[in-house]
Amino acid sequence: MSFTLHGIGASSGIAIGRAHLASPSRVEVAHYSLPENKIDSELKRFDDAVEQTRTELRTVRSQIPASAPAELPAFLDMHLLILDDNMIDEEPKRLIREQRCNAEWALTQQMEALVARFEEIEDPYLRSRQEDVVQVVQRVIKVLVGHPGQLPAGTDGEECVLVSHELTPADMIQFKSTRFAAFITDLGGATSHTAIMARSLGIPSVMALHQARSLIKDHEWIIVDGREGVVIVDPDEKILEEYRHRQAAWIKATEKLKKLKTSRAKTLDGTNVELFANIELPQDMPAVLESGAQGIGLFRSEFLFLNRDDLPTEDEQFEAYKIVAETMEGKPVTVRTLDLGADKQAPWGHTVADNPALGLRAIRLCLAEPRLFETQLRAILRASVFGKVRILIPMLGNFGELRATLQLIAATKENLRAEGIRFDERIPVGGMIEVPAAALLAEQFAKQLDFLSIGTNDLIQYTLAIDRADDAVAHLYDPLHPAVLSLIQHTIRSGQKAGKPVSVCGEMAGDSQLTRLLLGLGLRHFSMQPASILAVKHQILGSMIDEVTDLAIPLLKNTDAEKTTSLLNKLNGKT
Ligand code: PEP
Ligand code: MG
Repeated sequence: MSFTLHGIGASSGIAIGRAHLASPSRVEVAHYSLPENKIDSELKRFDDAVEQTRTELRTVRSQIPASAPAELPAFLDMHLLILDDNMIDEEPKRLIREQRCNAEWALTQQMEALVARFEEIEDPYLRSRQEDVVQVVQRVIKVLVGHPGQLPAGTDGEECVLVSHELTPADMIQFKSTRFAAFITDLGGATSHTAIMARSLGIPSVMALHQARSLIKDHEWIIVDGREGVVIVDPDEKILEEYRHRQAAWIKATEKLKKLKTSRAKTLDGTNVELFANIELPQDMPAVLESGAQGIGLFRSEFLFLNRDDLPTEDEQFEAYKIVAETMEGKPVTVRTLDLGADKQAPWGHTVADNPALGLRAIRLCLAEPRLFETQLRAILRASVFGKVRILIPMLGNFGELRATLQLIAATKENLRAEGIRFDERIPVGGMIEVPAAALLAEQFAKQLDFLSIGTNDLIQYTLAIDRADDAVAHLYDPLHPAVLSLIQHTIRSGQKAGKPVSVCGEMAGDSQLTRLLLGLGLRHFSMQPASILAVKHQILGSMIDEVTDLAIPLLKNTDAEKTTSLLNKLNGKT
């Protein structure tokens, strides 16, 4: 039976494909007793499942592309080691024999015993290793209950749509090497890091569908319209035909935009606008080159730290920054220092706080861990001789943090000098304006920094007190709220007064429906997912600065939410 689900369009485009239901992360297992004569076959069932899991893990490992970060194979090697451990490989068999229970139950009992032992460990890093044990055991259980964990590479040439309850940014790294036509999730918001990565993959995605994972059946045909946030399940032939047309039109429009790759981003009245790209990992560079970006405005360096159990060394980080700097051939590369915490949790270090978005995140975490921070600063500084590298500090909230960071950068430079290691002595240091306190005092921040970059994703979250990753409040997450627009305008003006450039690197910068508005607020530097650059350029090429400035003002003062759409339409020339 056909039905439609509505969610939040996280990444534009239309996909038509068969549903692939991602296995729930935890599988419910049954418990039953076995007669004596079934014990041997149960032991064999267990051994076969372990063997199949081993084969799966080895296959996934062998399919990792050479360009993937080194931590991916290491991560799989560790899971293979856990699988081979007697605690997983042998102990459940003793339970099957002694308790005459089914294999899933024995394995679950053993997992719980191991988790309880991990819980007693004081060291938070070692304690957190229990997650790996749980993941390996869950893989074996899924094989036992008939849900193999491996993701399909696409079936018989048919497109495949991943349907999942939830995806983490770490899951998304793995999807960078797996071909899906689209993916949809029950949870998540449009500016969660998972959604941002969906846009960087350039495939349609709808989030916050609430019940997709339970309502959609495996292999069912579905249409995903990422622009409208709509998913149509089991469509009839007429609907399919309609969406095939829309899909073809979308592909044609995307192809047409490609012609703009080499044109300068200049308004009709001749104002130059700078269009930079956001990246998560060096593997994103081909997309950056394809987009014609004039620089990297945001390198989310924390992605080098995810999906691994140890920290990337100074040399590993240096190589990653260096390759990006070299690839950009002298164009600016803005490396944001570690922004871990909130929805980007590394498996080591700190325990998750009750309210992680307001906790030890980003620069706060770095200042609490100066050795970790210094290692990163050394790597960035060393890479600075291979291009035009800039440092960007996330989530500044007060001047004490800024002072401490600048002191640490100065001390790191001093150490490198003493060691005779070269770096760019004049490396620019910028700050992200993501906390309302920083936006209100942007002029003072601008005076002490070389540039500012507005992180609208967090600025909206913190201004409106809306968790950006929580779908329950996603309808309140409003980039057009006049308080948000006023803080953006104030920050841009503060930068102008201090003579320092201001960019926007949050998702607003890549939303072509908001390009004229941001131009009207005075923005001249945009940084976004490479996939959005050409659509934004298209808007810029058709804009007059005077006109968009006049039309943006009513939105700043608008307290009538009903009028917002008509004001924006007017600004975008759609009356
Ligand atoms: C932002 O907050 O707008 C931003 C660019 O940083 P991130 O999305 O990585 O938090
Ligand atoms: Mg941010």
